[in-house]
Amino acid sequence: MITIKAKKKKKGLGAAINKFKVTLACSACKITARLLKIMGRNGTTLPGAVALKIYPDVLTALSENTDVYLVTGTNGKTTLTHMLNSVAEKPLNSFSNLYGSNLAQGITTVFIANSTPTGKCKKKAAILECDENTIPYITKKTSPKGVILNNFYKDQLDRYGDMNALLDKLIAAFNASPETRLYTNADCSFASYIAQRVKNPVTYFGSEIPLAKVAIHEGMYCMKCGAKYEYDLRVLGHMGHFKCPKCGFSRKEPVYKLTGTSYLEDDSVLVKTLLKGKEREFKLWLADFYNIYNMLAAVTLADDIGIKYEDIRSGIAKVKNVFWRTEKLNLGESVFHFYLTKNPMGADCNLNVLLNVKQPKSVIFGLNDNYADGVDTSWIWDANFEIVNDCLDFTRKIYVCGTRRYDMALRLKYAGVPVNLIEIRDDEVKLVKELSKEKNKVYIIGNYTFMFNLRKTV
Ligand SMILES: [Zn+2]
Repeated sequence: MITIKAKKKKKGLGAAINKFKVTLACSACKITARLLKIMGRNGTTLPGAVALKIYPDVLTALSENTDVYLVTGTNGKTTLTHMLNSVAEKPLNSFSNLYGSNLAQGITTVFIANSTPTGKCKKKAAILECDENTIPYITKKTSPKGVILNNFYKDQLDRYGDMNALLDKLIAAFNASPETRLYTNADCSFASYIAQRVKNPVTYFGSEIPLAKVAIHEGMYCMKCGAKYEYDLRVLGHMGHFKCPKCGFSRKEPVYKLTGTSYLEDDSVLVKTLLKGKEREFKLWLADFYNIYNMLAAVTLADDIGIKYEDIRSGIAKVKNVFWRTEKLNLGESVFHFYLTKNPMGADCNLNVLLNVKQPKSVIFGLNDNYADGVDTSWIWDANFEIVNDCLDFTRKIYVCGTRRYDMALRLKYAGVPVNLIEIRDDEVKLVKELSKEKNKVYIIGNYTFMFNLRKTV
């Protein structure tokens, strides 16, 4: 009797201590954020790091009464998160980390910013972009209701190790959170491999039409037996209707389907879908072909959790720009198009966008090698910069900037781009100001810190 009482008391005391720690962690996080703001800095990492140091389980406490949905994959996470949050914000009363702070610290900061001083989240749902490598941690701490597995490509592997190791980590994480539903791109053999190796509920989405002729860089061989996949339909890069002729591992039939696209004169695209058998159309302003996949993923999750078609449609139609990642900006006399590009697949997709621009234009390639970019920039040799040769008719000048501008220029030279078209510039801000003075259409294709710093300045 005494023992039980003592245990009970200890439990009560333990809970009280934890509650105190949560409050302390939240206060410290908010104070740190305020101090940073006073210092003129907008850090999202440090406040969360402080909170996690004080109470490592703070995310579990914060997410206790909130439905968490995670968005992961190599490319398009931020854009997809914007789309999903635009759809879910009102009907679900959700918040989101819209500016790409997708590691544990950044996610903690944004969670605390949406909570009371004692750590009670004020919103009913969280739509969170999450770095692939951080998924195991966030899944363990928040037991998400759903995770979108959008696509997997070779990206910053100096940070992650190889693809197999990453996929195994994700499989282990989902097996430990068996109620989490996986919204899986059926066309991506890596995402499908995860979904077919776990016991979690899975909802597949996929395309019935090809999106672009982009070369396969990875994912050519079966994850189970190593044989070369065969395709009934290629959608985009390695994504498509794949099957292994040796072991039978293959694409699962999706219940959410992309069935057609028609490009409209106002630069948007009408996307036709079949959502659990129902024909539905969406107007998408971010009309680049890879964003159609992002849209399908957002629509899949939204429809599956019961958000009404009207709300989904108006939410998707509201997203017109995603700050400096996919953005159209008028500066002076010129129109600048920003395309964040950080891996071979992304480069191929954005170069295909260039290919479709049948108007005179200038192009800026920006390559930095800061930590956030991945210090190894050798991926440019895997990307298909040869595509540039196919759009020279409409290209006035190609500028090359960034800390690794000479590597970038060399890559273009090896791709066969005439050197008299290439100009190496060491000050991209000055260049943009120059270009904005006369009527120009400028495409900026650059990696993370290059784009972020440039966009902050202009
Ligand atoms: Zn196989």
